[in-house]
Amino acid sequence: MEELSHFINGKRVAGTSGRFADVMNPATGEVQARVPLASPEELDAAVAAAAAAQPAWAATNPQRRARVLMEFVRLLNRDMDKLAEALSREHGKTLPDAKGDVVRGLEVVEFCIGAPHLLKGEFTDSAGPGIDMYSMRQALGVVAGITPFNFPAMIPMWKMAPALACGNAFILKPSERDPSVPLMLAELMTEAGLPDGLLQVINGDKGAVDAILDNDTIQAIGFVGSTPIAEYIYSRGCANGKRVQCFGGAKNHMIIMPDADLDQAADALVGAGYGAAGERCMAISVAVPVGEETADRLIEKLVPRVEALKVGPYTSGTDVDYGPVVTAAAKANIERLVQSGVDQGAKLVVDGRDFSLQGYENGFFVGPHLFDNVSKEMDIYRTEIFGPVLCTVRAKSYEEALGLAMDHEYGNGTAIFTRDGDAARDFANRINIGMVGINVPIPVPLAYHTFGGWKKSGFGDLNQHGPDAFRFYTRTKTVTARWPSGIKEGGEFSIPVME
Ligand code: NAD
Repeated sequence: MEELSHFINGKRVAGTSGRFADVMNPATGEVQARVPLASPEELDAAVAAAAAAQPAWAATNPQRRARVLMEFVRLLNRDMDKLAEALSREHGKTLPDAKGDVVRGLEVVEFCIGAPHLLKGEFTDSAGPGIDMYSMRQALGVVAGITPFNFPAMIPMWKMAPALACGNAFILKPSERDPSVPLMLAELMTEAGLPDGLLQVINGDKGAVDAILDNDTIQAIGFVGSTPIAEYIYSRGCANGKRVQCFGGAKNHMIIMPDADLDQAADALVGAGYGAAGERCMAISVAVPVGEETADRLIEKLVPRVEALKVGPYTSGTDVDYGPVVTAAAKANIERLVQSGVDQGAKLVVDGRDFSLQGYENGFFVGPHLFDNVSKEMDIYRTEIFGPVLCTVRAKSYEEALGLAMDHEYGNGTAIFTRDGDAARDFANRINIGMVGINVPIPVPLAYHTFGGWKKSGFGDLNQHGPDAFRFYTRTKTVTARWPSGIKEGGEFSIPVME
């Protein structure tokens, strides 16, 4: 069986803690590798090496740092098929979806090539007599990212590219479920010319995360994962004086107005609800048709589409719509929640409970489920299921639909399907959710905008990627300068004001 490693100082390094986790092939249910779980000592040593390498990198001009990222983009494109295959094998998602995972990360790397422009400070000439004032954005030092299983290429790149472009050293603690792609990314960065020590991949579980939280050298932490862990990392990281941003779970509502094109809405719901087996933080998990007639017509259009979904292993190529979920525990949790929905009175109009795939009986496949008549108190409505389960909550009016999305504790993404510009505009303005789609079911902002949820979906004050990432990974220093020849009087004893 393959034994994975860490990536430290430019090469793969075996773990020394003696602790390992199994890496599964979700399509077959077999253990395909084991990944070392770092001890606090291993983490601390990698951080110390990163701290030694970082000052020279910060002193390298930003254009040269950007050139490493340019080469990295070329190498990502060269190895796209290899990366996608490794990703699908550990995660389970289809190959086209795995490529999308890599490309959505690559786009952020492309954005970060603009570092020389993005890192420019501000300058005020003659802020006072003979006085200039300017600000600069400086790297923080060593920073860390802790990432989830569901986008093992995209989210590590969302973190590492801006952090490195800004002149930091970066410690990545990827998900222990699918660690191969993050290790491959680190190798490609080295091949692209990144000096050793600046990108350290430390595999591990809670032990490695706690070591990151308590390490005094690490200045900032970016986390993406479930909300309970986001809250834990945010509070402990902040208490330890670090800059922290944490992005958590979701329950994304899509509101379907009576005037919407219902074929379009049904297609959108099927793609956004079941793509990647529902294991996306931007998946639509709640459909909210407005009015009984809209609801009846929508369900009528959804049922055949959901029943026709093709579920299978990534090795079937483009012939599958979604693959298995990530672990046996994830599958069991989805099945438990589906049963709770039935027990609590929701109507299971497409029942995927008996789903089984010939030849892959031990894989973690979950059939598609569609619920109607879901209500606010049910566990399937309150909880993030993170599986191929779409819940329909019928609303009597637009205000009731809006209120549902607004009252939910999560606030990652949402969408409205309508032909009415007024309704769409009102929705976008009033909704308390970070990312909004108008006739777009998965409104993931592009690399040059920023990504982030509100309420229990996001903790901290800056978003991911886009200009916010450059703010998160730098701090501002402001200099007020006057040259000696400009000092004409003696000492000043009252607070200086620029007259
Ligand atoms: P997770 O919270 O289980 O794990 C995320 C990371 O935290 C992993 O690196 C893991 O090793 C670590 N971790 C797990 N348990 C820990 C503990 N007790 N203490 C310290 N660290 C711990 O999340 P996941 O299952 O990998 O990912 C799915 C979740 O991520 C979903 O809730 C999904 O909505 C969310 N997600 C959010 C976004 C976003 O941008 N808001 C994006 C992708 C995924």
